[in-house]
Amino acid sequence: MSGTIRFAPSPTGFLHEGHLLSALYVWAAAKKWDLKIHLRIEDHDQGRARKEYIDSIYEDLEWLGFKYDSQSVQSNHFDLFQKVLDKLSEKGLVYPCTCSRKQLLTENPISETGEVIYQGKCLGELKNDQPHSLRIVIPDKVIDWHDERLGDFRENPKKQCGDFPIRNRDGFWTYQFAVCIDDLVQGITHIVRGEDIRNSTARQIALSGIISEVCTGDASLQIPTYKRPLYLHHPLIVDPNGKKLSKREHAHSLRQEKEAGISAEQLLGRVLYKAKITPTPSPLPLEAAIGQIVRTL
Ligand code: GLU
Ligand code: ZN
Repeated sequence: MSGTIRFAPSPTGFLHEGHLLSALYVWAAAKKWDLKIHLRIEDHDQGRARKEYIDSIYEDLEWLGFKYDSQSVQSNHFDLFQKVLDKLSEKGLVYPCTCSRKQLLTENPISETGEVIYQGKCLGELKNDQPHSLRIVIPDKVIDWHDERLGDFRENPKKQCGDFPIRNRDGFWTYQFAVCIDDLVQGITHIVRGEDIRNSTARQIALSGIISEVCTGDASLQIPTYKRPLYLHHPLIVDPNGKKLSKREHAHSLRQEKEAGISAEQLLGRVLYKAKITPTPSPLPLEAAIGQIVRTL
């Protein structure tokens, strides 16, 4: 088999051990399935992305020895995002939502995972003159999809979250919209990422299908026909209380570790150990660390 996989960190903080584990899974999948690797800097949220973090992603990956075949930075092609939005708007598939955060939380049901299930209050209201996000009209339809590790899922995005934003109230593109366009135009055939984003998969399958259908007629956009990628959501490193590591909490950044004198091999060994892939935290060269994960795929 051949194709392309991506590693897609958001430059909203420094990379930490959770990112390192994700990278190891991506590089392992590339090895197992003979894939090209694309590094995509996901700076769609211009309110939180910082140049300093972008630079550090390149530096940390280089220090650890991760090599990739191509790379891109999302903000370099925001004009394409706008053109896709225009196409969706022409078809009446997008509408402004002026609901405040508080309204969203109090006027809609909340899912088991704590998400707002938007009931479509602003559909048909066209209140463009007030601060608003833009939501995509999602069909009420079950998506059957398969995860290489977790098995089969049947999920209906309309029931999971309702029509969701593709641009937020601050005017920034959302993760869901950016990731769908980029995975399409970059010819991504394999998506390997943490299981904390698993919930996004059905909605991305739905949105990618819509984008592709609406845009393939316009050759200038170069959006191909949607072919669903293979999905694999990997387990996360959890702290001793069973909670996932996150940069907002106390996860140490890779550069802090490096500055404290830890070698790349020590860090790789430690991450595999924390992820319960190896029985001891012994230092490991990158190729061996990747090999450890390949065995689990
Ligand atoms: N940018 C996302 C993150 O850093 C990952 C997106 C994805 O792999 O789909 O959490
Ligand atoms: Zn609304």
